[in-house]
Amino acid sequence: MENKKNASEDHQWLYSPSLESTSHIEIKDKYELFINNEWIAPTSNKYFDTINPADEKVLSKIAWANAQDVDKAVKAARKAYDEVWSKISAGDRSKYIFRLARMMQEKARELAVIETLDAGKPIRESRDIDVPLACNHFFYYAGWADKLDYAFPNQKTESLGVVGQIIPWNFPLMMAAWKIAPALAAGNTVVLKPAETTSLTALKLAEIIKEAGIPPGVINIITGHGDTGEALVKHPDINKIAFTGSTQVGKAIQKALVGTGKRSTLELGGKSANIIFDDAPIDQAVEGIVNGIFFNQGHVCCAGSRLYVQENIAEKLVEKLKHRMKSLILGNPLDKNTDIGAINSREQLQTIEKYIQIGIQEGSEIFQCEGALPANGFYCKPTIFTNVSQSSVLSQEEIFGPVLTIQTFRTIDEVIQKANNSPYGLAAGVWTDKGSKIFNLTSKLKAGVVWANTYNKFDPASPFGGYKESGFGREGGMHGLGAYLKIIK
Ligand code: NAP
Ligand code: MG
Repeated sequence: MENKKNASEDHQWLYSPSLESTSHIEIKDKYELFINNEWIAPTSNKYFDTINPADEKVLSKIAWANAQDVDKAVKAARKAYDEVWSKISAGDRSKYIFRLARMMQEKARELAVIETLDAGKPIRESRDIDVPLACNHFFYYAGWADKLDYAFPNQKTESLGVVGQIIPWNFPLMMAAWKIAPALAAGNTVVLKPAETTSLTALKLAEIIKEAGIPPGVINIITGHGDTGEALVKHPDINKIAFTGSTQVGKAIQKALVGTGKRSTLELGGKSANIIFDDAPIDQAVEGIVNGIFFNQGHVCCAGSRLYVQENIAEKLVEKLKHRMKSLILGNPLDKNTDIGAINSREQLQTIEKYIQIGIQEGSEIFQCEGALPANGFYCKPTIFTNVSQSSVLSQEEIFGPVLTIQTFRTIDEVIQKANNSPYGLAAGVWTDKGSKIFNLTSKLKAGVVWANTYNKFDPASPFGGYKESGFGREGGMHGLGAYLKIIK
């Protein structure tokens, strides 16, 4: 088997291109800040480039908000909260959110193509996952806006006020939707800061917000770097900070919030275990592993980046996995055939490459497919490491790239202990034929989400969030709604 060549190996990454059209999209040369439903130049007059990580070409210039701009946005959100959003009926709030969801759906193709251009993710994912899930989030929470009494029966609920929201670059539009939709449904107004490398779909969303006639100031979108986020966290008139990003920045935010009385939810990093028992349907498990770690180039907080395979099937499974990896198509994210797109930024590529070197130095065995990477842009081959020790850097630290560590186990107790031996606790996967094993593990794994015989599945009705250094608070479902409300028992 090892030496036999298969057809996909011969044609590795060589398919006729099937590029998604970019003729229907509009990206402006320059974007200002979106405050009060108006486009406002940044006080400093500073802008930064956003590039397409697939070819390193500049897509647009983005305004860089400073503390004064943050103040303008927060004031706009406060005024909109006091005078409009907290005064209108819940039914009207619901209608506005529905309208936003419908208009996003109408522009789904444009949003998907822009997401792919700006973030480097395969068009198949932005078209079939990111954008539909973002729309569904708005639909889902639009439904709750006028039913808060049913969501929290026999309790009184109150909105919080102005919410500052800071999001990362791995699911830019989807993260914006996860943040904005429940906040609005609960009756708050928002100031959102997208990640600096992926602001475009949030700015397209701003155009839709204006077109949808959402009252001015209800949703403000301010772009910038980490200092913009910091200024938002420190603004005295914010009632809650909702942050998704790295554990390192999450800890800094938590420190900054101590004693301020501001609420917070932090959705942070992960190093999730994907566990394969010997009674698992092995081919489906291989698909689940591929989806778990190579989906979105491994830029997934809950990526199944630590694989634990029962020892007696390990050899067979690793062989099947390598075989499957050889058929993955890496290349232009706009190509509808592409499975693995571009790494989001040069900086992130360097981080991933650093970890790959650490893995080699630690003595683990590396496997990558052969084949050249595109000449321009930031790309990383799907990579697996075997012979990995439990204490290795590679199996302990979040890499946030398409790099999988593989370890074996013999017993359930052993794998529970190994899976939980991590500072993180965001997600886990369990693959087995036995329901009893699944229930046993779901109660013992310290992870916010446990998928059984599947991986990386999301739904607006299902809460998502972590344990330990993966943060606290939940997004999605009624839990996600409650995180934007004062619930008075
Ligand atoms: P990051 O560096 O922490 O950045 C996240 C956001 O925070 C960005 O908008 C960033 O702005 C901003 N920021 C940076 N420094 C800040 C500061 N001192 N104060 C306030 N805001 C600041 O994370 P990332 O590299 O973009 O995203 C990757 C991380 O996000 C991974 O660790 C991943 O696991 C995590 N993540 C978690 C979840 C979850 O639900 N648990 C989901 C997705 C991603 P700039 O872009 O300008 O730096
Ligand atoms: Mg970009």
